[in-house]
Amino acid sequence: MNNLVYYLDKPNGTFTAVQESIGEPGPGEILLKTLRTSVCQSDVVIYKQGLPRIKQWPAIILHEASCRIEAVGDGVTKFQVGDLVGLGCDIPCGDRSCIYCGDKGTGDWTSCPNTQATGHEFPGFAREYAILPDWFVDLGPIMKFNPAVTPDEACHLEPLACNLEGMTRVNNCIENRIVVLIGAGSQSTYALQSALAMGARKVIVINRGVERLERVIRDFGNDKVVGLPWTDDIRDRILEECRPFNEPHFIMVNASAEAAYRLATDLMGYATVLDAHAGVKGADGKPNILHEVDLNNDVHYKLQCYQATHGSVMHGIGLSHELINSKKLPLLSLMTMDNERFRPSQILQAISRASDSDSLKVIIDWE
Ligand SMILES: [Zn+2]
Ligand SMILES: [Zn+2]
Repeated sequence: MNNLVYYLDKPNGTFTAVQESIGEPGPGEILLKTLRTSVCQSDVVIYKQGLPRIKQWPAIILHEASCRIEAVGDGVTKFQVGDLVGLGCDIPCGDRSCIYCGDKGTGDWTSCPNTQATGHEFPGFAREYAILPDWFVDLGPIMKFNPAVTPDEACHLEPLACNLEGMTRVNNCIENRIVVLIGAGSQSTYALQSALAMGARKVIVINRGVERLERVIRDFGNDKVVGLPWTDDIRDRILEECRPFNEPHFIMVNASAEAAYRLATDLMGYATVLDAHAGVKGADGKPNILHEVDLNNDVHYKLQCYQATHGSVMHGIGLSHELINSKKLPLLSLMTMDNERFRPSQILQAISRASDSDSLKVIIDWE
């Protein structure tokens, strides 16, 4: 069978369409047909400057994918031909005896020294068909959706999973709590929708760009959501919105700017969880800031928690699957504007559009 594959020759380079042949899945393997790929901000970075983890060029990038099962190999019982599945980006290392990724492992494969990710060490989904190896099928992040779910929705599985890893690493910090989201990009938009679905008391979204903030509040907000444009007195205004509490309970930073991290640490109070979530946009990663933490007063008595999350394992994938499969995030489709749908031959335009500051989710339709 013919397989259309798009190779990126080098960072900032060109995509070339290549017709390759692809065989039948072997024992334990499955053959997938790509239905949608969405563009992650990491794809924008990979396109512009590459990534140390990508050692081989030309490379097949894109990791947010929903697919249809085209064929299953001998012994595969979890999936059937025709199933709609979504895929995660971080995947097991492939060693079935690995203490993280193996059959008896913890499942924390982002902690494995040999961890791999789709679109990095493992070929991405800028291709029409893919065969997944048996360890991926058995242990990896591939989830089947019920027929009411669309390929567009299934495509959100991975970015939403990363978000939920951050929101659930500490228990009891969202439901009936005050949530502060710094930044109004795609990760904050997922966090806003999830926080409401998880029963947050109030969600306060802060962003420098007023236009994007207004769109996010208009499209995804309700009477529990407040949008605050960044001003010099932003800290006081956030604390005012937290009343009757003196602090927020959960803060997620989805902006790589130093000021965002300074604001987040300045908001820490009783039982506040800070998730230094995003910030790998660009090569610099998260900014280093000095912030003193008193283990007695801040951590012991005030129960503060400082964490960062990256990627996703089956925990986040499972939560994401549950929210999408049960249609608890009915507004997901609003993340993609009409001019943000592309054909596979337009990968470059899709990535370029995803790098625009007003873009939340660009989708490439392979059907
Ligand atoms: Zn992603
Ligand atoms: Zn491993």
